[in-house]
Amino acid sequence: MKYYSTNKQSPEVSLQEAVVKGLAPDKGLYMPENIKVLPQSFYDNIGNMTFQEIAYTVADAFFGEDVEADTLKQIVYDTLNFDTPVVHVNDNIYSLELFHGPTLAFKDVGGRFMARLLGYFIKKQGQTDVKVLVATSGDTGSAVANGFLGVEGIHVYVLYPKGKVSAIQECQFTTLGQNITAIEVDGTFDDCQALVKTAFLDDELNKKLNLTSANSINVARFLPQAFYYFHAYAQLAKQGKADNVVFCVPSGNFGNITAGLIAKQMGLPVKRFIAANNSNDIFYQYLQTGEYKPRPSVQTIANAMDVGDPSNFVRVLDLYGHSLDKIKVDISSEWYNDDNIRKTVKQTYTETSYLLDPHGACGYQALKDQLQSDETGVFLETAHPAKFLETVESIIGEKIAIPEKLQAFMKGEKKSISMGKSFDEFKHLLL
Ligand SMILES: *Cc1c(COP(=O)(O)O)cnc(C)c1O
Repeated sequence: MKYYSTNKQSPEVSLQEAVVKGLAPDKGLYMPENIKVLPQSFYDNIGNMTFQEIAYTVADAFFGEDVEADTLKQIVYDTLNFDTPVVHVNDNIYSLELFHGPTLAFKDVGGRFMARLLGYFIKKQGQTDVKVLVATSGDTGSAVANGFLGVEGIHVYVLYPKGKVSAIQECQFTTLGQNITAIEVDGTFDDCQALVKTAFLDDELNKKLNLTSANSINVARFLPQAFYYFHAYAQLAKQGKADNVVFCVPSGNFGNITAGLIAKQMGLPVKRFIAANNSNDIFYQYLQTGEYKPRPSVQTIANAMDVGDPSNFVRVLDLYGHSLDKIKVDISSEWYNDDNIRKTVKQTYTETSYLLDPHGACGYQALKDQLQSDETGVFLETAHPAKFLETVESIIGEKIAIPEKLQAFMKGEKKSISMGKSFDEFKHLLL
Protein backbone atom coordinates (compact mmCIF):
# COMPACT_ATOMS: atom_id res chain seq x y z
CA MET A 1 0.00 0.00 0.00
CA LYS A 2 1.13 3.54 -0.69
CA TYR A 3 1.36 6.27 1.91
CA TYR A 4 0.71 9.93 1.10
CA SER A 5 1.77 13.04 2.96
CA THR A 6 -0.96 15.12 4.61
CA ASN A 7 0.61 18.18 2.94
CA LYS A 8 0.30 16.50 -0.47
CA GLN A 9 3.50 18.22 -1.69
CA SER A 10 5.76 15.18 -1.71
CA PRO A 11 5.37 11.91 -3.61
CA GLU A 12 3.60 8.86 -2.27
CA VAL A 13 5.93 6.29 -0.75
CA SER A 14 5.99 2.61 0.17
CA LEU A 15 5.34 1.42 3.73
CA GLN A 16 9.06 0.78 4.06
CA GLU A 17 9.95 4.34 3.17
CA ALA A 18 7.22 5.81 5.37
CA VAL A 19 8.47 3.79 8.34
CA VAL A 20 12.15 4.43 7.77
CA LYS A 21 11.71 8.17 7.03
CA GLY A 22 9.05 8.92 9.63
CA LEU A 23 8.19 12.41 8.40
CA ALA A 24 7.48 13.31 4.75
CA PRO A 25 9.91 15.75 3.05
CA ASP A 26 7.13 18.39 2.83
CA LYS A 27 6.81 18.15 6.66
CA GLY A 28 3.48 16.36 6.35
CA LEU A 29 2.56 13.14 8.12
CA TYR A 30 2.12 9.93 6.19
CA MET A 31 -1.35 8.41 5.84
CA PRO A 32 -2.38 5.08 4.29
CA GLU A 33 -3.87 5.72 0.86
CA ASN A 34 -6.79 3.49 1.64
CA ILE A 35 -8.49 2.39 4.80
CA LYS A 36 -10.06 -1.02 4.23
CA VAL A 37 -13.46 -1.75 5.67
CA LEU A 38 -13.28 -5.16 7.34
CA PRO A 39 -16.01 -7.67 6.39
CA GLN A 40 -19.18 -8.04 8.44
CA SER A 41 -18.26 -11.65 9.22
CA PHE A 42 -15.24 -10.35 11.15
CA TYR A 43 -17.43 -8.13 13.31
CA ASP A 44 -19.99 -10.90 13.82
CA ASN A 45 -17.29 -13.23 15.12
CA ILE A 46 -15.05 -10.75 16.93
CA GLY A 47 -16.24 -11.76 20.42
CA ASN A 48 -14.79 -15.24 19.86
CA MET A 49 -11.33 -14.09 18.73
CA THR A 50 -8.20 -13.56 20.83
CA PHE A 51 -6.52 -10.15 21.01
CA GLN A 52 -3.67 -11.41 18.85
CA GLU A 53 -6.03 -12.81 16.22
CA ILE A 54 -8.00 -9.57 16.10
CA ALA A 55 -4.82 -7.50 15.89
CA TYR A 56 -3.40 -9.62 13.10
CA THR A 57 -6.58 -9.14 11.04
CA VAL A 58 -6.30 -5.38 11.47
CA ALA A 59 -2.55 -5.37 10.81
CA ASP A 60 -3.05 -7.40 7.66
CA ALA A 61 -5.44 -4.77 6.30
CA PHE A 62 -2.67 -2.15 6.48
CA PHE A 63 0.59 -4.02 6.18
CA GLY A 64 -0.36 -7.31 4.52
CA GLU A 65 0.65 -6.20 1.03
CA ASP A 66 4.11 -5.15 2.18
CA VAL A 67 5.17 -7.65 4.83
CA GLU A 68 5.03 -11.45 4.41
CA ALA A 69 2.26 -13.07 6.42
CA ASP A 70 4.60 -15.09 8.67
CA THR A 71 6.72 -12.08 9.54
CA LEU A 72 3.74 -9.84 10.17
CA LYS A 73 2.10 -12.42 12.35
CA GLN A 74 5.28 -12.82 14.37
CA ILE A 75 5.59 -9.04 14.82
CA VAL A 76 1.96 -8.74 15.98
CA TYR A 77 2.15 -11.72 18.33
CA ASP A 78 5.50 -10.59 19.84
CA THR A 79 4.24 -7.04 20.28
CA LEU A 80 1.10 -8.11 22.09
CA ASN A 81 2.45 -10.48 24.70
CA PHE A 82 0.26 -8.73 27.30
CA ASP A 83 -3.47 -8.13 27.64
CA THR A 84 -5.60 -4.98 27.32
CA PRO A 85 -8.58 -5.85 29.51
CA VAL A 86 -11.81 -3.86 29.71
CA VAL A 87 -12.70 -3.39 33.37
CA HIS A 88 -16.06 -2.18 34.68
CA VAL A 89 -15.72 0.92 36.86
CA ASN A 90 -19.10 2.48 37.46
CA ASP A 91 -22.60 2.52 35.93
CA ASN A 92 -22.09 2.30 32.16
CA ILE A 93 -18.41 3.28 32.28
CA TYR A 94 -15.53 0.92 31.57
CA SER A 95 -11.77 1.30 31.69
CA LEU A 96 -9.70 -0.05 28.81
CA GLU A 97 -6.52 -0.81 30.73
CA LEU A 98 -3.57 -0.24 28.45
CA PHE A 99 -0.91 -0.40 31.14
CA HIS A 100 -0.13 -4.10 31.30
CA GLY A 101 2.90 -3.93 28.97
CA PRO A 102 6.57 -3.69 29.97
CA THR A 103 6.64 0.07 30.63
CA LEU A 104 3.06 0.30 31.91
CA ALA A 105 1.64 2.74 29.35
CA PHE A 106 -0.31 2.32 26.12
CA LYS A 107 2.73 3.41 24.14
CA ASP A 108 4.17 -0.08 24.57
CA VAL A 109 1.86 -1.27 21.78
CA GLY A 110 3.04 1.21 19.16
CA GLY A 111 6.61 1.28 20.46
CA ARG A 112 7.06 -2.48 20.34
CA PHE A 113 5.37 -2.85 16.97
CA MET A 114 7.43 -0.09 15.43
CA ALA A 115 10.72 -1.41 16.82
CA ARG A 116 10.05 -4.78 15.25
CA LEU A 117 8.84 -3.48 11.89
CA LEU A 118 11.69 -0.98 11.58
CA GLY A 119 14.20 -3.67 12.57
CA TYR A 120 12.80 -5.84 9.77
CA PHE A 121 13.06 -3.11 7.12
CA ILE A 122 16.54 -2.04 8.20
CA LYS A 123 17.79 -5.58 7.91
CA LYS A 124 16.17 -5.85 4.48
CA GLN A 125 17.94 -2.67 3.38
CA GLY A 126 21.24 -3.91 4.79
CA GLN A 127 21.66 -0.76 6.90
CA THR A 128 23.90 -0.87 9.91
CA ASP A 129 23.76 2.48 11.63
CA VAL A 130 20.29 3.96 12.05
CA LYS A 131 19.57 6.67 14.55
CA VAL A 132 16.06 6.78 15.98
CA LEU A 133 15.11 10.16 17.42
CA VAL A 134 12.24 10.37 19.85
CA ALA A 135 10.86 13.28 21.85
CA THR A 136 8.98 12.30 24.97
CA SER A 137 6.55 13.95 27.35
CA GLY A 138 7.07 11.00 29.67
CA ASP A 139 5.90 7.64 28.38
CA THR A 140 7.00 7.50 24.75
CA GLY A 141 10.68 7.49 25.66
CA SER A 142 10.47 4.39 27.78
CA ALA A 143 8.15 2.44 25.47
CA VAL A 144 10.32 3.14 22.43
CA ALA A 145 13.62 2.67 24.24
CA ASN A 146 12.49 -0.64 25.70
CA GLY A 147 11.15 -1.75 22.32
CA PHE A 148 14.54 -1.08 20.68
CA LEU A 149 16.81 -2.10 23.56
CA GLY A 150 19.62 -4.28 22.27
CA VAL A 151 18.43 -4.22 18.65
CA GLU A 152 21.51 -4.33 16.44
CA GLY A 153 22.11 -1.52 13.96
CA ILE A 154 19.86 0.94 15.79
CA HIS A 155 20.73 3.67 18.27
CA VAL A 156 17.92 5.51 20.06
CA TYR A 157 18.13 9.12 21.27
CA VAL A 158 15.41 10.04 23.76
CA LEU A 159 14.87 13.78 24.21
CA TYR A 160 12.93 14.76 27.32
CA PRO A 161 12.09 18.07 29.02
CA LYS A 162 14.14 18.68 32.15
CA GLY A 163 12.12 18.48 35.37
CA LYS A 164 8.85 17.80 33.55
CA VAL A 165 8.58 14.04 33.63
CA SER A 166 7.93 11.97 36.76
CA ALA A 167 10.89 10.40 38.56
CA ILE A 168 9.75 6.90 37.64
CA GLN A 169 9.17 7.83 34.00
CA GLU A 170 12.68 9.29 33.88
CA CYS A 171 14.39 6.18 35.19
CA GLN A 172 12.60 4.06 32.61
CA PHE A 173 14.69 5.53 29.80
CA THR A 174 17.80 6.89 31.54
CA THR A 175 18.93 3.64 33.15
CA LEU A 176 18.95 1.34 30.14
CA GLY A 177 22.41 2.03 28.67
CA GLN A 178 23.40 -0.10 25.64
CA ASN A 179 22.02 1.47 22.45
CA ILE A 180 19.86 4.03 24.29
CA THR A 181 21.02 7.61 24.95
CA ALA A 182 18.84 9.93 27.04
CA ILE A 183 19.11 13.68 26.42
CA GLU A 184 17.74 16.06 29.03
CA VAL A 185 16.63 19.26 27.29
CA ASP A 186 16.32 22.52 29.19
CA GLY A 187 12.89 23.30 27.72
CA THR A 188 9.39 21.91 27.20
CA PHE A 189 8.14 18.83 25.37
CA ASP A 190 7.30 21.08 22.42
CA ASP A 191 10.96 22.17 22.30
CA CYS A 192 12.02 18.51 22.23
CA GLN A 193 9.54 17.75 19.47
CA ALA A 194 10.72 20.78 17.47
CA LEU A 195 14.36 19.63 17.74
CA VAL A 196 13.44 16.23 16.36
CA LYS A 197 11.39 17.67 13.51
CA THR A 198 14.12 20.15 12.61
CA ALA A 199 16.68 17.35 12.51
CA PHE A 200 14.68 15.58 9.81
CA LEU A 201 14.61 18.68 7.68
CA ASP A 202 18.33 19.40 8.02
CA ASP A 203 20.16 18.51 4.80
CA GLU A 204 23.57 18.04 6.33
CA LEU A 205 22.32 15.70 9.05
CA ASN A 206 20.33 13.63 6.60
CA LYS A 207 23.28 13.33 4.23
CA LYS A 208 25.56 12.11 6.98
CA LEU A 209 23.19 10.05 9.12
CA ASN A 210 20.33 7.60 8.70
CA LEU A 211 17.69 9.27 10.83
CA THR A 212 14.23 8.12 11.66
CA SER A 213 11.56 9.12 14.15
CA ALA A 214 9.70 6.99 16.64
CA ASN A 215 7.13 9.59 17.60
CA SER A 216 3.51 9.02 16.71
CA ILE A 217 4.23 10.81 13.47
CA ASN A 218 5.56 7.39 12.39
CA VAL A 219 2.84 5.24 10.83
CA ALA A 220 4.32 2.10 12.39
CA ARG A 221 3.67 3.57 15.80
CA PHE A 222 0.31 5.13 15.39
CA LEU A 223 -1.62 2.59 13.28
CA PRO A 224 -1.10 -0.40 15.66
CA GLN A 225 -2.89 1.60 18.32
CA ALA A 226 -6.09 0.71 16.44
CA PHE A 227 -5.70 -2.91 17.63
CA TYR A 228 -6.99 -2.36 21.13
CA TYR A 229 -10.10 -0.43 20.08
CA PHE A 230 -11.19 -3.59 18.25
CA HIS A 231 -10.24 -5.73 21.21
CA ALA A 232 -12.22 -3.50 23.59
CA TYR A 233 -15.25 -3.73 21.34
CA ALA A 234 -14.87 -7.52 21.23
CA GLN A 235 -14.88 -7.74 25.02
CA LEU A 236 -18.01 -5.59 25.24
CA ALA A 237 -19.70 -7.57 22.46
CA LYS A 238 -19.11 -10.74 24.44
CA GLN A 239 -21.03 -9.23 27.34
CA GLY A 240 -23.80 -7.86 25.13
CA LYS A 241 -22.72 -4.28 25.91
CA ALA A 242 -21.51 -3.19 22.51
CA ASP A 243 -24.39 -0.94 21.41
CA ASN A 244 -23.63 2.78 21.23
CA VAL A 245 -20.03 2.52 22.31
CA VAL A 246 -18.31 5.82 23.08
CA PHE A 247 -14.53 5.86 23.35
CA CYS A 248 -13.00 8.61 25.43
CA VAL A 249 -9.30 9.21 24.86
CA PRO A 250 -7.03 11.28 27.11
CA SER A 251 -5.20 13.15 24.37
CA GLY A 252 -1.93 15.01 23.97
CA ASN A 253 -0.40 14.55 20.54
CA PHE A 254 -3.63 12.91 19.27
CA GLY A 255 -1.98 9.78 17.93
CA ASN A 256 -4.01 7.45 20.11
CA ILE A 257 -7.40 8.93 19.24
CA THR A 258 -6.51 9.11 15.54
CA ALA A 259 -5.94 5.34 15.54
CA GLY A 260 -9.44 4.98 17.01
CA LEU A 261 -10.92 7.20 14.30
CA ILE A 262 -9.27 4.96 11.72
CA ALA A 263 -10.75 1.87 13.43
CA LYS A 264 -14.17 3.49 13.00
CA GLN A 265 -13.50 4.04 9.31
CA MET A 266 -12.64 0.33 9.07
CA GLY A 267 -16.18 -0.35 10.14
CA LEU A 268 -15.77 -0.75 13.90
CA PRO A 269 -19.22 0.13 15.29
CA VAL A 270 -18.31 3.09 17.49
CA LYS A 271 -20.93 5.76 18.04
CA ARG A 272 -18.58 8.61 18.79
CA PHE A 273 -15.35 9.72 20.44
CA ILE A 274 -14.47 12.17 23.16
CA ALA A 275 -11.04 13.79 23.24
CA ALA A 276 -10.19 14.63 26.85
CA ASN A 277 -7.67 17.42 27.30
CA ASN A 278 -5.92 18.81 30.37
CA SER A 279 -5.28 22.58 30.63
CA ASN A 280 -3.60 22.33 27.22
CA ASP A 281 -7.03 22.60 25.64
CA ILE A 282 -6.00 23.42 22.07
CA PHE A 283 -8.34 20.83 20.54
CA TYR A 284 -11.24 21.69 22.82
CA GLN A 285 -10.90 25.33 21.74
CA TYR A 286 -10.67 24.29 18.11
CA LEU A 287 -14.03 22.53 18.34
CA GLN A 288 -15.56 25.60 20.01
CA THR A 289 -14.19 28.24 17.66
CA GLY A 290 -13.16 26.42 14.48
CA GLU A 291 -9.74 27.95 14.87
CA TYR A 292 -6.65 25.91 15.56
CA LYS A 293 -4.41 27.99 17.75
CA PRO A 294 -1.31 26.17 18.98
CA ARG A 295 0.35 27.74 21.98
CA PRO A 296 3.22 26.87 24.32
CA SER A 297 2.30 23.93 26.54
CA VAL A 298 1.76 24.42 30.25
CA GLN A 299 2.83 21.88 32.82
CA THR A 300 0.11 19.76 34.46
CA ILE A 301 -0.11 16.61 36.59
CA ALA A 302 -1.23 14.73 33.46
CA ASN A 303 2.16 15.51 31.94
CA ALA A 304 2.00 13.17 28.95
CA MET A 305 -0.81 15.35 27.61
CA ASP A 306 1.14 18.61 27.95
CA VAL A 307 1.22 19.31 24.25
CA GLY A 308 0.60 22.74 22.78
CA ASP A 309 0.70 21.84 19.11
CA PRO A 310 -0.52 18.26 18.67
CA SER A 311 1.31 16.59 15.77
CA ASN A 312 -1.53 14.34 14.74
CA PHE A 313 -4.10 17.12 14.48
CA VAL A 314 -3.29 17.27 10.75
CA ARG A 315 -4.21 13.59 10.49
CA VAL A 316 -7.60 14.29 12.07
CA LEU A 317 -8.15 17.11 9.56
CA ASP A 318 -7.10 14.85 6.72
CA LEU A 319 -9.44 12.01 7.78
CA TYR A 320 -12.41 14.40 7.76
CA GLY A 321 -11.51 16.35 4.64
CA HIS A 322 -10.73 19.46 6.74
CA SER A 323 -14.42 19.80 7.66
CA LEU A 324 -15.07 21.05 11.17
CA ASP A 325 -18.70 19.97 10.86
CA LYS A 326 -17.75 16.41 10.03
CA ILE A 327 -15.20 16.31 12.83
CA LYS A 328 -17.83 17.50 15.29
CA VAL A 329 -20.17 14.66 14.31
CA ASP A 330 -17.62 12.09 15.49
CA ILE A 331 -15.64 13.90 18.18
CA SER A 332 -16.48 16.12 21.12
CA SER A 333 -14.10 17.34 23.78
CA GLU A 334 -13.73 18.29 27.43
CA TRP A 335 -10.82 19.73 29.38
CA TYR A 336 -9.81 19.58 33.03
CA ASN A 337 -7.34 21.55 35.11
CA ASP A 338 -5.18 19.99 37.82
CA ASP A 339 -7.73 20.64 40.56
CA ASN A 340 -10.45 18.89 38.54
CA ILE A 341 -8.13 15.96 37.90
CA ARG A 342 -7.25 15.62 41.59
CA LYS A 343 -10.89 15.72 42.54
CA THR A 344 -11.77 13.01 40.02
CA VAL A 345 -8.97 10.69 41.15
CA LYS A 346 -9.93 11.12 44.80
CA GLN A 347 -13.68 10.83 44.36
CA THR A 348 -13.54 7.84 42.03
CA TYR A 349 -11.21 6.03 44.40
CA THR A 350 -13.47 6.73 47.36
CA GLU A 351 -16.68 5.81 45.58
CA THR A 352 -15.61 2.86 43.44
CA SER A 353 -12.13 1.93 44.77
CA TYR A 354 -10.86 2.18 41.17
CA LEU A 355 -7.57 4.07 41.15
CA LEU A 356 -7.20 6.31 38.10
CA ASP A 357 -3.96 7.84 36.92
CA PRO A 358 -4.12 11.59 36.15
CA HIS A 359 -4.55 10.97 32.40
CA GLY A 360 -7.22 8.31 32.73
CA ALA A 361 -8.95 10.64 35.18
CA CYS A 362 -9.54 13.16 32.37
CA GLY A 363 -11.03 10.35 30.29
CA TYR A 364 -13.27 9.05 33.07
CA GLN A 365 -14.51 12.52 34.01
CA ALA A 366 -15.33 13.40 30.39
CA LEU A 367 -17.53 10.29 30.20
CA LYS A 368 -19.17 11.24 33.49
CA ASP A 369 -19.92 14.66 32.04
CA GLN A 370 -21.12 13.62 28.59
CA LEU A 371 -22.33 10.03 28.52
CA GLN A 372 -26.01 9.40 27.79
CA SER A 373 -27.90 6.59 29.50
CA ASP A 374 -28.16 4.47 26.33
CA GLU A 375 -24.42 4.66 25.67
CA THR A 376 -21.57 2.47 26.90
CA GLY A 377 -18.51 4.54 27.68
CA VAL A 378 -14.96 3.24 27.51
CA PHE A 379 -12.11 5.50 28.57
CA LEU A 380 -8.55 4.56 27.72
CA GLU A 381 -6.60 4.12 30.96
CA THR A 382 -3.37 5.09 29.29
CA ALA A 383 -0.87 4.45 32.10
CA HIS A 384 -0.59 2.74 35.47
CA PRO A 385 -1.20 5.14 38.38
CA ALA A 386 2.09 4.09 40.02
CA LYS A 387 3.96 5.86 37.19
CA PHE A 388 2.81 9.07 38.86
CA LEU A 389 3.52 7.89 42.35
CA GLU A 390 3.95 11.13 44.34
CA THR A 391 1.01 12.82 42.63
CA VAL A 392 -1.40 9.94 43.09
CA GLU A 393 -0.33 9.13 46.65
CA SER A 394 -0.69 12.75 47.69
CA ILE A 395 -4.19 12.89 46.19
CA ILE A 396 -5.56 9.81 47.88
CA GLY A 397 -3.45 10.12 51.03
CA GLU A 398 -2.38 6.50 50.89
CA LYS A 399 0.67 4.56 49.76
CA ILE A 400 0.14 2.55 46.61
CA ALA A 401 1.81 -0.66 45.57
CA ILE A 402 4.49 -0.33 42.88
CA PRO A 403 4.33 -3.11 40.30
CA GLU A 404 7.48 -5.22 40.14
CA LYS A 405 8.18 -4.19 36.56
CA LEU A 406 8.45 -0.57 37.70
CA GLN A 407 10.59 -1.37 40.73
CA ALA A 408 13.13 -3.04 38.48
CA PHE A 409 13.63 0.20 36.51
CA MET A 410 14.07 2.22 39.69
CA LYS A 411 17.10 0.21 40.72
CA GLY A 412 19.24 1.19 37.69
CA GLU A 413 21.79 3.99 37.47
CA LYS A 414 20.54 7.18 35.83
CA LYS A 415 22.59 8.47 32.89
CA SER A 416 21.70 11.35 30.60
CA ILE A 417 23.29 14.14 28.58
CA SER A 418 22.15 17.68 29.45
CA MET A 419 21.50 20.17 26.67
CA GLY A 420 19.92 23.55 25.97
CA LYS A 421 17.14 23.79 23.40
CA SER A 422 19.17 25.15 20.49
CA PHE A 423 19.21 23.06 17.34
CA ASP A 424 22.92 23.65 16.75
CA GLU A 425 23.76 22.04 20.05
CA PHE A 426 21.61 19.02 19.21
CA LYS A 427 23.09 18.71 15.74
CA HIS A 428 26.60 18.86 17.11
CA LEU A 429 25.76 16.10 19.58
CA LEU A 430 24.36 13.82 16.87
CA LEU A 431 27.37 14.33 14.62
C1 LIG B 1 1.20 9.76 25.48
C2 LIG B 1 0.17 9.70 26.52
C3 LIG B 1 -1.10 10.29 26.33
C4 LIG B 1 -1.43 11.07 25.08
O1 LIG B 1 -1.51 10.25 23.93
P1 LIG B 1 -1.46 10.92 22.47
O2 LIG B 1 -1.45 9.79 21.52
O3 LIG B 1 -0.21 11.72 22.43
O4 LIG B 1 -2.67 11.77 22.35
C5 LIG B 1 -2.05 10.14 27.31
N1 LIG B 1 -1.77 9.49 28.46
C6 LIG B 1 -0.57 8.91 28.69
C7 LIG B 1 -0.33 8.23 29.99
C8 LIG B 1 0.43 8.99 27.73
O5 LIG B 1 1.62 8.44 27.97
